[in-house]
Amino acid sequence: MAKFDVVVIGSGPAGYVAAIRAAQLGLKTACIEKNKGKAGQVAFGGTCLNVGCIPSKALLDSSHKYHEAKADFDVHGISTGKVEMDVPAMIKRKDAIVKQLTTGIGGLFQANGVTGIEGTGKLLAGKKVEVTDPDGKVTTLEAEHVIIAAGSVPVEIPPAPLDGNTIVDSTGALEFDAVPKKLGVIGAGVIGLELGSVWSRLGSEVVLLEALDTFLPAMDQQIAKEAGKVFKKQGLDIRLGARVTEAKASRGKVKVTYTQADEEKSETFDKLIVCVGRKPLSTNLLSADCGVNLDERGFIFVNDYCETDAPGVYAVGDIVRGPMLAHKGSEEGVMVAERIAGQKVTMNYDCIPSIIYTHPEIAMVGLTEEALKADGVPYNVGSFPFSASGRAMAANDTGGLVKMIAHAETDRILGCHIIGPSAADLIQQVVIAMEFGSSAEDIGLTVFGHPTLSEAVHEAALAVSGHAIHIPNRKKRK
Ligand code: FAD
Ligand code: AMP
Repeated sequence: MAKFDVVVIGSGPAGYVAAIRAAQLGLKTACIEKNKGKAGQVAFGGTCLNVGCIPSKALLDSSHKYHEAKADFDVHGISTGKVEMDVPAMIKRKDAIVKQLTTGIGGLFQANGVTGIEGTGKLLAGKKVEVTDPDGKVTTLEAEHVIIAAGSVPVEIPPAPLDGNTIVDSTGALEFDAVPKKLGVIGAGVIGLELGSVWSRLGSEVVLLEALDTFLPAMDQQIAKEAGKVFKKQGLDIRLGARVTEAKASRGKVKVTYTQADEEKSETFDKLIVCVGRKPLSTNLLSADCGVNLDERGFIFVNDYCETDAPGVYAVGDIVRGPMLAHKGSEEGVMVAERIAGQKVTMNYDCIPSIIYTHPEIAMVGLTEEALKADGVPYNVGSFPFSASGRAMAANDTGGLVKMIAHAETDRILGCHIIGPSAADLIQQVVIAMEFGSSAEDIGLTVFGHPTLSEAVHEAALAVSGHAIHIPNRKKRK
């Protein structure tokens, strides 16, 4: 029986990062992956690299360029003639990026001495892992430590069963070979908005049906309201309080029935994307006697250090509590590998950025005004609109704002919420500041390059104490 210090089940951003870090620390490590790529080869990288973060951003970038060429170039004095799109070429480009990155993980495994194993892993009692290879051959590995990183899969809902053609999930929506004339999306969450944006920019008439009455309920509501207005202007038809009860496909169309304000309504689409969330992939993964327990929603139960109820067995990423984000899983993977190697590291769950890659991008870290109000925490807010940013004007991209929230007594930054150009990258400056326990004044005292979009972060931090220079301050202070 092959023996390892660490066996990782799953090679998504949680698993492959854990495996590489463990190997770097001198631990004999294997990582098992069952997923196959388009060419039939083992494809490491999980949801993120194969059907999630990366391919969605490839299509978001392609569709953004197309849209800019059509709608924005003339402002800059550039005329292009007729702008045409080739959807199969866009999909091919996306596939090439996926292939490069997923094979790249294989290269990183080799470089770091991780043994990549193709097959399906199952945790048995006593930290043994059974591996079934693609031909059905079963072997067993013995491990000092097991890290479970089996990830998540899209939620399916009975009213809208997937048919792989007209009714698809997020994976199917990355594979359309032509622009659907009319596209329905169930769920106006992060993934629904991103995929809806891709196809809307390419010319689809997009309707998003969202069961909740509140748009983006986890986000700061000032930012969510701003986002709602922008998306409406872009042509995304977001219907709140609309619960889908039936979706029937026939002759290449799909008729969707939903209830809104107690009224039954229906709409016919050429394609329907079901984006109602993701669920942990914890079935057929654990033997009954392995000692690992699930919580009531099917997530593997872990403590703050990602330790399961079975000694020596850890779980990280989408399969455990917390936001389903690639970077959250990767950091958990690093923490676990380092703790296995004897380092007493911990992870700061209060500083995990969350981003929606629409245009403008939406990014947040820390607490919202709503959460602070509910907890009775005193706070000050400083905001700065991109309409007052010279750099944003130069780019003809002036929508949105930066909103910084700091504790009213200590000035410690509690949260930051951005909608605007490059919000995904701007938020990271605040994440670093928060990680070091900075005050808004600390950011205010920092020198920012000019002209940059980052200056909006600087000005929002200054505005917390009424010291912004390039907008009138709501609170005037000396
Ligand atoms: P996964 O990435 O799901 O990887 C788990 C891996 O384990 C898979 O490869 C699976 O095949 C394998 N596996 C499962 N069971 C077994 C088994 N028994 N044996 C062997 N292998 C097994 N997150 C972001 O942070 N930013 C984004 O922009 C973003 N965009 C997204 C866009 C879309 C369309 C989607 C669907 C998701 C997006 N996400 C994004 C979420 C992100 O992809 C996930 O949070 C992340 O991939 C989770 O990482 P993971 O390693 O926990 O699991
Ligand atoms: P997220 O959790 O960000 O992936 O978003 C998924 C969204 O889908 C949530 O906002 C849910 O409210 C929404 N949703 C779930 N089921 C339905 C349904 N039957 N009809 C419309 N929206 C739904």
